Amino acid sequence: MSQKILVQADWLLKWGEGLEIIPRGEVEIAGGIISYSGPARENKERDFTRVIRGKNRLIMPGLINTHTHAAMSLFRGYADDMPLQEWLEKRIWPVEARLKKKDIYWGTLLAICEMIRGGTTCFADMYFYMGEAAKACLESGIRASLSQGLVGLDVIKGLAALKEGKELVRDWHGEGEGRITVMLGPHAPYTCPPGYLRKVAETAELLHVPIHIHLAETKKEIEESLKNEGKRPIELMEQIGLLRQDVLAAHCVHLTPGEIRILAENKTAVAHNPGSNLKLGSGVAPLADLMQNGVLVSLGTDSAASNNNLDMVEEMRLATLLPKGLRGDPTIVPAVEAIRLATVNGAGALFLKEKVGTLGEGSQADLIMINLDQPHLHPLHSLPAQIVYSALSSDVELVMVDGNILMEKGDLKTLDEEKILFETAKISSRLVGQ
Ligand SMILES: [Zn+2]
Repeated sequence: MSQKILVQADWLLKWGEGLEIIPRGEVEIAGGIISYSGPARENKERDFTRVIRGKNRLIMPGLINTHTHAAMSLFRGYADDMPLQEWLEKRIWPVEARLKKKDIYWGTLLAICEMIRGGTTCFADMYFYMGEAAKACLESGIRASLSQGLVGLDVIKGLAALKEGKELVRDWHGEGEGRITVMLGPHAPYTCPPGYLRKVAETAELLHVPIHIHLAETKKEIEESLKNEGKRPIELMEQIGLLRQDVLAAHCVHLTPGEIRILAENKTAVAHNPGSNLKLGSGVAPLADLMQNGVLVSLGTDSAASNNNLDMVEEMRLATLLPKGLRGDPTIVPAVEAIRLATVNGAGALFLKEKVGTLGEGSQADLIMINLDQPHLHPLHSLPAQIVYSALSSDVELVMVDGNILMEKGDLKTLDEEKILFETAKISSRLVGQ
C-alpha cells in the first residue's frame, strides 16, 4: 500500500508559469508522487501515514546539482590555489591513479551526506567505477544522473572505458524506481579526440542516453583546440555532431557570441559552475548572455576538490552576484532566476523535466523545507531574496526524494554518517600517502 504524506508550511514555493509563492501551502504525496500542491485545504477527512507541519518554514523544490565528481570529496583541501592543468597533472591525477573501486563508494557517500544536508535532492556525477557510485546513490535514496568518465587519448583504454560506460547504462539506467539515470560522459575535447567523440555520440544515440561533457572551461583549452583542430571547442563539437544529442555541457566559460548561438540552436544544456571556475581561476561564464539567448542553464558545484564544497545555496548566490558585479548592473540575474537555475532548469538539464524540479502535481516528491525562524532570515519581505541572499544551506531541515525522508532536523535517515566519515578519513589518508 502506498504511503500518503502531507507536508504543510507557512510558505510553499512551486513553479507554474513563473515562481508561485503560496502562503499556508501544502504538498500531498501518494506513493512518492505529488497528488496536490497548493494552498492548504481542510484536511479533517483525509488520513495520512505521516503529517509534517512547518511553522515559520518554507517548502520548495529540492536543489539539483548538475555537475560534480562526488567521490573527489576524498581530495577536499588536498590541492588548492593552483591553475587547473597543474592542479590536475601534479596533484589530482597521481592520487586518482591510486583509487580503488571501493573508495568511490565511500567517497560518493561522503558527498551525498553533504549534499542531502544542504538540500540537494538530485545530482549529476561523472567519475570512474560508477557502479560503486550507483550503489551509494541507491542506498542513500538520492536521485542521480551518473556517467562513467571517458578518456580517449589511448585507443585501447578509450574503447575499454566506452564499454564500461555502456555497461553502466545496461546495469543502472532506471534503477532505484527510476531515481538513477545514466549518461555517457566523454571527459572533454582535450582528453577525447574527434574520432572518439564521434563514436561516443553514435553510441549515445544507439542507447538513447544523453551526454555529459566538460566544454570550454579554460583559455588554454580554447588555444589548444584552435591550434590542434583549427576550431574552438563548441564549433568543433557541432562539427563532430556531438551537440545533436541531448547534451549537458559543464562550464562553458569561454564563449563567443557565435558559440552561444550554437548552444541555443542545438538546445545544449549548460551546467554553470561559478565557484569552481573562480577558485581554479578559469574565469566567469557569461551567464546573463547565455540566459538572454535562450540557453538552458543549470547550476553545479563541480567537485569538492575544486570548489571546495557541494553547497548549492552558495552557488545560487555566486551565480547572481557575479554578473551584477561584472556588468555593474544590480538588476541582472535576479534572485528568482538563481532559484530557477537550481531547480527547474536543473531538472531540464538532466532530462528529468516532467519528473522533478517544480513541485507540480504528478511529479515526483523531491522537496526540501527551510527553517525561516532564525535571525539571519528575519524580517521577511521577499522569499526569493531570503533564499538566495540570506539563507545558508544548513537552514535546510527536511529533505525528501520520491516522498522518502532522507534528512529530518539534522538526522540523516538512510546513511550512517559516523561510519562514512570514519571510512573516508582512512581512505583519503591512504590516497595522499599519509
Ligand atoms: Zn568537472
